[in-house]
Amino acid sequence: MKTSIIGYPRIGDLRELKFASEKYFRGEITSAELEQTAKEIRLYNLNVQKNSGIDLIPSNDFSFYDEVLDAAFLLNAVPERYTALGLSALDTYFAAARGYQGENGDVKALAMKKWYNTNYHYMVPEIDDNTEIKLAGTKPFDLFTEALENGVKTKPVIIGAYTFLKLARYTGKKTVLDFVEPIAAAYSELLRRFGELGTEWVQIDEPSLVKDMTADDIALFVSLYEKILAEKNGVKVLTQTYFGDVRDCYNELCGLDLDGIGLDFVEGKRSLELVRTNGFPKDKALFAGVVNGKNIWRNNYEKTVSVIAELKKYAENIVLNTSCSLLHVPCTLRNETKLPESYKKHFAYAEEKLSELAGLKTIFDSATPAETAEYRANKALHSETRAGENPAVKAKVAALTESDFVRLPAFAEREKIQKARFKLPLFPTTTIGSFPQTADVKAKRSAFRKGELNADEYERFIEKKIAECVALQEEIGLDVLVHGEFERNDMVEYFGECLDGYIFTEKAWVQSYGTRCVKPPVVWGDISRAKPMTVRWSKYAQSLTNKPMKGMLTGPVTILNWSFPREDISLKESAFQIALAIREEVLDLEANGISIIQVDEAALREKLPLRRADWREDYLDWAIPAFRYVHSGVKPETQIHTHMCYSEFADIIRDIDDMDADVITFEASRSDLTILDVLKENNFRTEVGPGVYDIHSPRIPSKEEIKAAIGKMKERIPVSKLWVNPDCGLKTRGNEETVPSLKNLVAAAKEARNENG
Ligand code: GLN
Ligand code: ZN
Repeated sequence: MKTSIIGYPRIGDLRELKFASEKYFRGEITSAELEQTAKEIRLYNLNVQKNSGIDLIPSNDFSFYDEVLDAAFLLNAVPERYTALGLSALDTYFAAARGYQGENGDVKALAMKKWYNTNYHYMVPEIDDNTEIKLAGTKPFDLFTEALENGVKTKPVIIGAYTFLKLARYTGKKTVLDFVEPIAAAYSELLRRFGELGTEWVQIDEPSLVKDMTADDIALFVSLYEKILAEKNGVKVLTQTYFGDVRDCYNELCGLDLDGIGLDFVEGKRSLELVRTNGFPKDKALFAGVVNGKNIWRNNYEKTVSVIAELKKYAENIVLNTSCSLLHVPCTLRNETKLPESYKKHFAYAEEKLSELAGLKTIFDSATPAETAEYRANKALHSETRAGENPAVKAKVAALTESDFVRLPAFAEREKIQKARFKLPLFPTTTIGSFPQTADVKAKRSAFRKGELNADEYERFIEKKIAECVALQEEIGLDVLVHGEFERNDMVEYFGECLDGYIFTEKAWVQSYGTRCVKPPVVWGDISRAKPMTVRWSKYAQSLTNKPMKGMLTGPVTILNWSFPREDISLKESAFQIALAIREEVLDLEANGISIIQVDEAALREKLPLRRADWREDYLDWAIPAFRYVHSGVKPETQIHTHMCYSEFADIIRDIDDMDADVITFEASRSDLTILDVLKENNFRTEVGPGVYDIHSPRIPSKEEIKAAIGKMKERIPVSKLWVNPDCGLKTRGNEETVPSLKNLVAAAKEARNENG
């Protein structure tokens, strides 16, 4: 039995790519030096995979920023505003990814969206009526050749034509159908070129096949592939799906002239059933995704063996595969030097998943799988009982009833009470929470962690930062202040470290977008709050100002969604356990004089099941109540804010309103404020702060630009419900961009206020 993986993390074991890219952005290294680091990472990854004995090693899974953006450049789908800058190829690419402001012009970045149900973000390709799709680059061929020169004939990976067309944004009159011919021709050309290079397998990723498909979608998919596969040039083509099952197009997929089909047996609820009911074509290889590419727990070989045994009844040629790209897990356990072995032995990061595939291969190649040493050791591991059970927490969750999820009085009543209490001006200005995490903050935290700074000194330092931040906000003239979140490395990891039941890792970085990586904590046992987590900082910050100081928490759904969850209890159970803990913190903040509390649910939309049929039962039915429980105990005059990243929530707008927060802030600027129409149509009740500028880009928005955004907001939302704020936290930005941006924001709000007089 052969082994394969869908993709490997490209950030480098110690985030080498991030650091090199950031140096390049700051002008500290040349493009040649950046290219060199990238090459070293690729070759290192290649060797790790080769040494683990993986048979089908991917190439072109490397990217400087994002693989969808790479595909857009490869397919010549790059808006002219970037190419017109006249920059080098690499800088044009980075301009599209991050925006550009300099001698050659001033352009915003492409929109960025969550990648299916993950915390990875892709750049949304933009296609206009002048876009001429054709094969325009050589990256996949160059990387294939590079690996070949280093002794490995790889399986090049590329985003598929269907998925690409579905993910793109069409800004002109033309639609998807206008691009079928050219994109199919580009993929045929791609196969032809790979044929010339002697490539055996090409992996074409089509994750969009696991989403709900209409009859038109299916027809589009089939027509694209009939064209692409008409001339394969001796190359074997694998259509790879992940993040779910292909229930809408399984038979069409099997009917195509493909050589391999990749299915996900981890997240694909119906994958096994599809194979059982419909069989599997004899002439194709089944790439069976059995090793979870999204979570860090060791594979359960017993379960995997039974899935494969079942599949063997239908498919003759099975390739053991990961369920999705390993991009979504950290690189290697080797750098986790502090984590005790008793935990570590339960984990598998990307590198260890390679050995799991090798272990499974040994098992399947043996005449008596259950007798192999690999199988026995794994079985022993999975039968161990893990510490961390807390019956009291479980009992509290079990005792929750409907009334626990209802905050009284109702919204309209609270809104009046709060308007009278806070007396904020029209278009109140605020920020989302974090202020720039400057070098001094990172240096002190790291010194504190290493024991070079004692707790007292560290806390003094944080207080100094808070005081500066409060003074700065007063100077800028913001209305509702924040403490700046300097004590936090990350909005989830911080709480993970404070909560019982969590464990945290040292080097388990996962790419979130571009050079941004996150280190999700691990839900190990039952969760509870051991002690107040944020109260002292919020209280201190409030003592420095007469303006309202927002308490700042992360909500239960986001904490869970950005953690590596347990697999032995349900997500719902874990979410309620976390909600219990966050509610205690909310009540504590309120008792300590904090009048506005923001509970971020940045990641609420992200784990919405990909199929509509699963939305309620699998997710919203517990996620929304978990949030409601967090704040249902506060007084009517306490104002609850929430924040969500990205405005992709048109389809669950009622549920968002039903979270029953008093104010919600969210991203809007990158998607041209289109969400406003949806809010209007739905008579959105909660007060809103649609972000007026994009903090993911280093560019400074002008006052006029922000005023224009406020103008658009005013047209659709009653002014009494509007807030003015950036679209997310400012931690990744520098002060040099933040201060002028916020000054422009306040000036714009003031002007708008005067005009509304
Ligand atoms: N309060 C958080 C911050 O400002 C929110 C971040 C986020 O939504 N990702 O950093
Ligand atoms: Zn955000």
